[in-house]
Amino acid sequence: RTLTAHCLCLLSHITFTLPPTPLPQQAHLCHCSVCRYTHGTLFTTHERIQRPDVDLSTFKAYKCTERWTIYFCGRCGSHVLDRLDVRGWGGKDGAGEEEVEWYIALGVVDQEGGGKGNGKVDGVWQFTKHIFVSSTQDGGLAFFLTRIGNSNVRLWNSRPIDDPAVGTGELQMQLEVKCHCTSIHFPISRPSPQSKFQGKHCACRSCRFATSTPVASWVYVPTSSLSLPANLLFNSNSKPPSLGPGFGTLQTYTSSPGVTRSFCSTCGACVAVVRDEEKGVVQVAAGLFRAKGVRAEEWVEWGRDVGGLEDG
Ligand SMILES: [Zn+2]
Ligand SMILES: [Zn+2]
Ligand SMILES: [Zn+2]
Repeated sequence: RTLTAHCLCLLSHITFTLPPTPLPQQAHLCHCSVCRYTHGTLFTTHERIQRPDVDLSTFKAYKCTERWTIYFCGRCGSHVLDRLDVRGWGGKDGAGEEEVEWYIALGVVDQEGGGKGNGKVDGVWQFTKHIFVSSTQDGGLAFFLTRIGNSNVRLWNSRPIDDPAVGTGELQMQLEVKCHCTSIHFPISRPSPQSKFQGKHCACRSCRFATSTPVASWVYVPTSSLSLPANLLFNSNSKPPSLGPGFGTLQTYTSSPGVTRSFCSTCGACVAVVRDEEKGVVQVAAGLFRAKGVRAEEWVEWGRDVGGLEDG
């Protein structure tokens, strides 16, 4: 079966073929820190595809580990493809002599090509497992998404991941936000140790294609909690003359009139969304928060609902 996938801005797209195994294929929700810090979400979903015949000229590549390269749109930042070097692994998953495996981000797969579809793909993948849950310290969204469609989603922890990045950016009054390549990093601060920001999960089409993940998680941070460079950057479409440390790689994309999304142009992580109609608030990507648990509940009061389901 052949499917298409495209980024949010439609510049970067691919056609790909599924491996020859029966449908639906089992799919995973990955909670590892590489996924979280390169997407800005609390989890991601990627599944194996056959080697795609694709023009990668509109994509940017980012090598997130020695063997793992991700490809995201150079204009809007959507992650589309992952490439895994499996040389010397002796045919992982029956891959035989293949030396490279390709994975597609399920959040950008579209049943109808050309950006006409709503991102729904029926009968191809069934979510059966949460993986690398132990990396989240608090379970992340794994305990929230226990049932998807008609199937229960099991937990799989693997070995506990001792992740030095988790929790190190947390002080009583200040929390660090940082992408995977660490080029984007800035603090958010709160007026008192008890005060919390509002958090919301969103499954709308734009969030889905921007983050390449079925559910995006945003924290609504008042601009008064951002220091000056962040405040300036997220609230104007033009970059100030000097970006300074912490923002040198920030790139913006206007996803619809009055909605500006920003991402790291090195690793592709979604960083923030600013809506002209919501003055004084910046939606910051929760996946980049460096709190002790990925839900950062010392800092965030999460809404119970997932928004945007009608068009996601
Ligand atoms: Zn794009
Ligand atoms: Zn992962
Ligand atoms: Zn980055």
